[in-house]
Amino acid sequence: MSRISTRSGVAVAVALAVTTTSGVVGIRAATADSSRARTMNVIYLLGDGMGRTHVTAGRDRFYGADGRLVMETLPAVGQVATYAIGKNSGQPGATDFVPEYVTDSASSATAWASGVKTYNAALGVDGKGAVVPTLMELAKRAGYGTGNVSTAEITDATPASQMSHALARGCQGPEYSAAACQDTEITGSALPTSDIRVTPIADQIARNGTADVILGGGLSRFDAEDEQALKSQGYSILGSPATQAVATRAELSQARGPKVFGLFNKGNLTVERAKRLAPGTPGAAEPSLPELTSKAISLLSRQKRSGKGFYLQVEGALIDKRSHANDAAQTLDEIKAFDDAVKVARDFAAKDRNTLVIVTADHECAGFSIIEQGTITNAEADVPGTGNRDAGNPANSSAASGLPDRAAQSKADARSTGIQNAPGGTPAVPGGAPANNFAPATFRTADDPRSVQDGTPEASLWLTYLSGNHTGEDVPIYASGPRAWRLGGSIDNTDLFDVVGGALGVVR
Ligand SMILES: [Zn+2]
Repeated sequence: MSRISTRSGVAVAVALAVTTTSGVVGIRAATADSSRARTMNVIYLLGDGMGRTHVTAGRDRFYGADGRLVMETLPAVGQVATYAIGKNSGQPGATDFVPEYVTDSASSATAWASGVKTYNAALGVDGKGAVVPTLMELAKRAGYGTGNVSTAEITDATPASQMSHALARGCQGPEYSAAACQDTEITGSALPTSDIRVTPIADQIARNGTADVILGGGLSRFDAEDEQALKSQGYSILGSPATQAVATRAELSQARGPKVFGLFNKGNLTVERAKRLAPGTPGAAEPSLPELTSKAISLLSRQKRSGKGFYLQVEGALIDKRSHANDAAQTLDEIKAFDDAVKVARDFAAKDRNTLVIVTADHECAGFSIIEQGTITNAEADVPGTGNRDAGNPANSSAASGLPDRAAQSKADARSTGIQNAPGGTPAVPGGAPANNFAPATFRTADDPRSVQDGTPEASLWLTYLSGNHTGEDVPIYASGPRAWRLGGSIDNTDLFDVVGGALGVVR
């Protein structure tokens, strides 16, 4: 699907009323005249930082080599290119187009939410800082129920991409700060604080009503004024931004729609592994992603008056955050929790029969790899590698190296203290792996005998990280339901805007 041909297919010229002082709106949206599509639901789930290897490792760990994660049972499968663009870059095809091969969550989320490439850290604006409407805004305007669920702060890049417009993702609130909110490389000089693009994201979310159901973390980004603004729009508020009382699972179970706002932690939600290791702590009492997803679907599907469908975004954010930390044990459990949320969506769709379910990621994180049991990685090897030598035909050698054979590799004591299933990199956690340990983390799989323990050479799933940062590889996509076939093959993350917008009848 080419961006240009898709874009030229945009037919009806009704710009969304996203008011800013600059008032720039780059994308035209179709009017919501397509009642045919109105009863349709879209559940869009993404594992932040979930690359191809994350999925395979999750499969091996929890279901075994011959098993399948729930996401892998969806019939349409493809891969998504995720690149970003530089600041002040034009869109692909323009003469001033400048690609950035590795994206962050903000740029990637803006691509699917608004159909444009943008620079890293940008939300709801294009590469030159112009405000672009989001799918959730368009869906809301067309009468759909809308929901946004995340295990991160709800003001963090992925959820914020659907319900805010910001030059810099760090402008989360509660207070405005020029350092966090302005980007003069885009605007030339500081914008007035009345400009939406430098308005704290929490303030935007609390006032624009873009999502009917808002469930996640990040309570400390909101304050008493935000609570008042939410109440005046009719939101049921779980917990209290004014008193900083976090929402509880009991409040969640009793919540009634149509508009619900519940944040269960002042920051990001608690990782599943930490909950399991510390039962009885406040974090352990937080609802899980599958629970949040189930409640959001229940609230939104109950609003089906006059045949309205809904559009729900669900983010498993901690896959990325724990991958940055090189904590494979936590990462694997977050993949499982995310996949359990996919099961909730799939089971709903199986009954509903008119729901497009999409499962994908925004980018890969940390160069996660599954290596052969017993392998010494280059990072921990005394003398990494053999050079490019072909003993059978010296003409194929690119350089004489004098390096030893792979078989002769040994571990460098300074960089390898042995298998340790604890966060790598820096800083080392107390009692965890030394910061300089580049040895693999090992995990038992569903295929291993019961006697095999995590963190031993006998465990058959050997995992390593390349770094603590994102990579530029394509990410997998799985889909089922109406129009799912359009997501097969190789697509770009901006194509998701067209497919989902088309399914909802808000983009043509
Ligand atoms: Zn990340």
